[in-house]
Order: sequence, then structure tokens, then C-alpha cells
Amino acid sequence: MTLPQIDHTHDAALKSWVPSADNHPEFPIQNLPFGVFSPQARAARIGVAIGDYVVDLAALRDILPEAASEALVQPNLNALFALPAQDRRALRLRLSELLSDDTLSGAVVPALYPQAEVTLHLPARIGDYTDFYVGIHHATNVGKLFRPDNPLLPNYKYVPIGYHGRASSVRPSGEPVVRPRGQRKAPDADAPVFEPSARLDYELELGIWVAQGNALGTTIPIGQASEHIAGISLLNDWSARDVQAWEYQPLGPFLAKNFHTTVSPWVVTTEALAPYRIAQPPRPEGDPAPLPYLLDVQDQAQGALSLTLSVWFSSAKMREEGRAPLRLSEGPASNMYWTLAQIVAHHASNGCNLNPGDLLGSGTISGPTPESYGSLLEITEGGKRPFTLPTGETRSFLQNGDEISITASAHAPGRASIGFGECRAVILATPA
Ligand code: MN
Repeated sequence: MTLPQIDHTHDAALKSWVPSADNHPEFPIQNLPFGVFSPQARAARIGVAIGDYVVDLAALRDILPEAASEALVQPNLNALFALPAQDRRALRLRLSELLSDDTLSGAVVPALYPQAEVTLHLPARIGDYTDFYVGIHHATNVGKLFRPDNPLLPNYKYVPIGYHGRASSVRPSGEPVVRPRGQRKAPDADAPVFEPSARLDYELELGIWVAQGNALGTTIPIGQASEHIAGISLLNDWSARDVQAWEYQPLGPFLAKNFHTTVSPWVVTTEALAPYRIAQPPRPEGDPAPLPYLLDVQDQAQGALSLTLSVWFSSAKMREEGRAPLRLSEGPASNMYWTLAQIVAHHASNGCNLNPGDLLGSGTISGPTPESYGSLLEITEGGKRPFTLPTGETRSFLQNGDEISITASAHAPGRASIGFGECRAVILATPA
């Protein structure tokens, strides 16, 4: 497997001349995530986040590597994702140079915009969105609620389970979520009703952005899979649990999940994540080894990421009273039974073609204990254990006006920490 290498762009001592960049909690010069933004009332363009600023890459194309030139004037990252990984690496090297060497700042300053003054968009035109289910604690917790006697089905430890989601309803952070109507049936009711969901939930996930794809009928070998990953965002797979419980058998999730999916707009690149790679945790004694098409020694040694994932909650009343958001959970991203490379290799293993800009959700990432559960379904045990807010309000599922924000940081000894920005949205009432 060809993994991106650690180089001087990751050096913790590297400084930037851009104000606010040094020691920035999310976007120091070691990060350099790509995104799509609009400066006030102007057309969408590609940028890179540095400190509290975004750099307009289209404006700098004449001093950036020529191989990326065409891709950098597009209104989305699809063409950049489609380039060979080495071209994105060359772009990163040059950006790191331009943003660290103050003798080069003159050319860059006119292309800097304060992030607070721009609108961030979806990073790519998403052709297809697939959501996986690789958080084994989540799968076990949810399995217990839906099937107490049979929580983890026998295929789970062999197959990276997934379903095809809906690309059209993926939205960037900040866009409100309208509470969906749907069919739900109480256990003791004879027939379902069609009403606004009463059990609206979030799911803490990572989103994988597909880089170069594969032709229909060909596969992506596990040893090459990480080269097909452009980067990672945070993803919230909003879920209507009452609708889900009634509709999910026999074909899986459908309207309970496709009404809205939120992603964080910055793509933290595979190159930026190189220092934060860790070994995939060993499988518990007695679990089967991955089948050969999903097994790569280097992927097992370096295919997981050292990330801390957090979920933050605020109700309308909490915001009115000026209260800080409440942290609902915090935990590592290492509770994934399958690596990102295994997800990609499995998706293409039947000859299904992936395309640049496709989005793959990891599935809800929960830890083994309630402090690190990645959904309300788990935190409140299906609504049975509501929790109390600082305002005295209680919650078992999301109410209108509630806001969920997911954040994350990558860390490694002797390295700068880097972040992902926000994956945030507020719940709006169902229209009459
Ligand atoms: Mn999900």
C-alpha cells in the first residue's frame, strides 16, 4: 500500500506569516484543507483554510503547480480529486511554501479572505453517497435495541455493511434540517400514522471523499485503496428513528435517513493526515480475519486515524440564555471495525465504479461507554433514559430549535493538532 508520507509540511515547528495561523486549533499551516467558498456575493471558488482565513486558489493559479491549474478554476473539488495523488501532494508542498515564506507573502495577501466573511459550500458535486456501518459499538448498541436477542448479525465481521444513501440531500454545515414527516407505528398500534418524526436523531460519522475512481467492472485493490481517498470531512447522518424502525426491514434504511445529511465543508486531505495514522486495533480473540481482498499488512499497521470526535448540543433556550453548548460525547475514531481503505476496496470489489467526489459515510462511531456514544438512540437507550439540560429542559430525542455540532481533532506525539471545522445544523419544525 502506498501511503502518503510525512514530510516538512507536517513539521510542528513550521510557522506561517498569515495572522492567526500559528497554533490555530484547527487550521495551522500543517493542515491546509481544501474547500469551496464564495467571497461576498461572488461566484464559488476553491480555497484552502489557513488560520482564520481562506486563500483563493484560483487567484493564485499562476504561482501554483501547472498540473493543478485547470482543476483550481472549477467551482468544486471534483477535478482536483480526479488528479493523481502526486499532483495534490505537489500542490500541498507549494501552498506550504507560499504560506510559510514571508518573502512570498506579497503575491498571496490579495487572495486572502477572512473565513468569517465568506460562505462555505459543499466541497464537491456528489454523484453518489453511500453510508457504511463500521462502528462496531454502535452496531452492537443499536442491534440490542432493535433485536435484543441477536444484536450483531453474523455477516458483520465479514462484510463492511453499507447502504446506498441519497446524494441530493447532502448539505454543508449550517444549513438547517427540516424535521421530516414519515410513517411510524407504535408497538401497540394497529396501523401506522404519517406525522412529523418524534424520534429525530443525529449520527456522528466521518465522510470519505473519493479521489480517482475506478472504471465499471474493475476493482480497487486494498493495497491501492488509500490513494483513492482525497480526504475526510465530518458527517452527520440525521436519522428519524421511529420511521427507521418501521421501514427498515427487509431492504434497510430509506426515508428515515435520506431527508438530510450534513457534512463539514473542509476536506482534510489524506496527505495532511499522514502523521496521525495509527494501527487498526487488533480484532478481539476469536473474530475472523478479514478475507484476503480486504486484508493488507500496511493497512492494518497504519490504516486507522488518531482522531478525537466530539458532539455538541444546544437547545434554543440554552442559546437564548447565552449558555455554552453541552458536550454530549467524546471519543476516538479507532472504534471502527473496518479501515477507510477497507471501506473503499469493498465498495468497488464487485466492479461497482466509484467517481471523484463520491461521498462515503463511515457509519456512526461510538465508543464502548456512554460518554462516547455517537447517537441519542444509544445515549438515551432508545428514549428510555432522557437527560437534563442546564436549563432544566430534558431530551430523549431532538426538539425543534436544537442544534448539533460535530468537531474533531487529529493528534500525534510531537505533531501540531489539526481540526476539521464544524459540522453543524439546527432542527426546524415540519412545515404545515
Ligand atoms: Mn449512518
